[in-house]
Formats: sequence, C-alpha cells, structure tokens
Amino acid sequence: MGRTSKDKRDVYYRLAKENGWRARSAFKLLQLNEEFQLFQGVTRAVDLCAAPGSWSQVLSQKIGGQGSGHVVAVDLQAMAPLPGVLQIQGDITQLSTAKEIIRHFEGCPADLVVCDGAPDVTGLHDVDEYMQAQLLLAALNIATHVLKPGGCFVAKIFRGRDVTLIYSQLRVFFSSVLCAKPRSSRNSSIEAFAVCQGYDPPEGFLPDLTKPLLDHSYDPDFNQLDGPTRIIVPFVTCGDLSAYDSDRSYPLDLEDGSEYKYTPPTQPPISPPYQEACTLKKKGRLAKEIRPQDCPISTVDTLSQ
Ligand code: SAM
Repeated sequence: MGRTSKDKRDVYYRLAKENGWRARSAFKLLQLNEEFQLFQGVTRAVDLCAAPGSWSQVLSQKIGGQGSGHVVAVDLQAMAPLPGVLQIQGDITQLSTAKEIIRHFEGCPADLVVCDGAPDVTGLHDVDEYMQAQLLLAALNIATHVLKPGGCFVAKIFRGRDVTLIYSQLRVFFSSVLCAKPRSSRNSSIEAFAVCQGYDPPEGFLPDLTKPLLDHSYDPDFNQLDGPTRIIVPFVTCGDLSAYDSDRSYPLDLEDGSEYKYTPPTQPPISPPYQEACTLKKKGRLAKEIRPQDCPISTVDTLSQ
C-alpha cells in the first residue's frame, strides 16, 4: 500500500496533516464546537485521554480569547509537549490520576471537560461497549470534582445496547444531554459524543473519589428502564452538510487545482505501544502467524488442542 493511499481513503486524515493537527480527531471537536459553541467563555479545560494531542491542540488554540487558556491533558501514553498544555501521564480510572488532575483545579474549577477515550477494542462488541462505558464514567467522576456549576462535559460514547443507562446517569448531573455525531466520525462506527451542558449536580451531592461511578455490580436488566426513568436523548448530527463525508474516498487532486503533495504526519506518537513490534519486524524477528495448512499433520494435531 502506497503512502498516499490513506490520504485518498481518509480525507480527514489527510486534512489533519495539512492543517498541522496531530490526529484526524481534531475535526470531531471542531465540528462539535460549530454546533454547540463549546468553547464560548471557556478559559480552563481538561482533556482526558488526550494522546496524541489533537484535541489539546484545538483547545489550547481556541479557548481563552487569544489562546491564553489553561489546558490539562491526561493520557496513559506519553505525549509530545504542546505549548500551553500541562500534561499528566496516567490512567483516568485510577484514584492517583484523578487526584492529580483535581489538584490542578482546586479553588479554580474548569469550564469544560472533554474525553475522547477509547479502550483497545477487542472486537467483542459487548466487552468493548462495557469498557467504553467504564472509561466514560471514570471521566464523569473526575468531571464532578473539577467542573464549575453550569460547566460542560463532552465524552465519546458507543451507541450500543445499554447506552440508555449512561444517558440516565449523565442526566442526573447535567440539565441538557444530547448525543452528537460529527461528519468526521464515520457512519460505519458506533462512536458518537455525549454533549452534556449545564453542570447541575443533585442537591446535597458531594463528589467522592472513594465511590467512583464505576458500576461494578453491573446488571443488564437495569437498562430496561421505563416510565419517567427511561431517558431518550436527542440525536444531532454536526459539521456542515457540505463538509467532507468521512466514509467516502476522495481523489488526491486538490480542489483549487494545485498538484497533490504528500504531507508527513504532524507529530508521530513518541512512544507507541506497538513500537517493540515495529522494531522486531524490521529485524525480521516478529513471530509469524502459523496457519494450520502450513504445518505438518502431527503439528496440526498439537495446535488444535
Ligand atoms: N483525542 C485524542 C486526539 O485528538 O489526539 C485522541 C484520543 S485516542 C482516540 C484515545 C486515547 O485514549 C488513547 O491515546 C489511549 O491511550 C487513551 N486511553 C484509553 N484508556 C485510557 C485510560 N484508562 N486512561 C487514560 N487514557 C486512556
């Protein structure tokens, strides 16, 4: 596969490089902002699950008037530095990371908390959806500690079977909860974004790190809420209709007629989890998949046990 074929297949990947964004996800946040004016009046923001950092780039450039806002970015992975962004490397589901984030906002709460977190998908949909929900709830738990009243929380959500339960939990804390799908998020993906505005916790609610919202006693029947407890949130698509369709391939010729020129990625990951595999592959030492048809019969018997 040539290095330009991804540019052709994924127009947002290509535009991200050409516009200096570290990842195509930048367009998702920009299109969400077009619809919901998320950055209006925001000077302090938290970017959870931030690596490689395109949302942090957007935030640091767009908030606080002349980009003078304060952004705290958190991820499991190390991230190349960004001007105006304070980085914390850690797991957002861990108490120690949550405490470190909260420390930065004590006495001066955040206006906006965003979370584009995604677990490593297994392909087992129920497991992936459950893991995604846990990440979102960990992010919500942190948000309840750092958000100012009226503040906003935006988090990636998988529109799976049990999504109603998450909407119900979010509605406990926010006066408005919507589900939004930016044009740059592929239609073929169950990904969408919960846009929660007007942080307004129930009277008497005290954020408590020792009781995170993680739902350890998960009960699938709990999702079968009905009557007034069943929350159906509005679904909104965002990004101009004339914006590129993320499920289409586009020709490489630029619209202004100028010749296509390959642009390298803005900031390759500095320490990706697959680095060791790449090094081993270069040296020809990466273990190869053994297909049963390549094995002598005696080995096939052993492999299938
Ligand atoms: N918004 C980012 C951007 O624009 O560059 C892209 C985020 S990427 C889709 C998802 C990120 O979630 C990964 O970098 C991954 O390391 C992070 N992540 C997953 N689980 C996490 C956890 N438990 N704590 C912190 N980060 C996590």
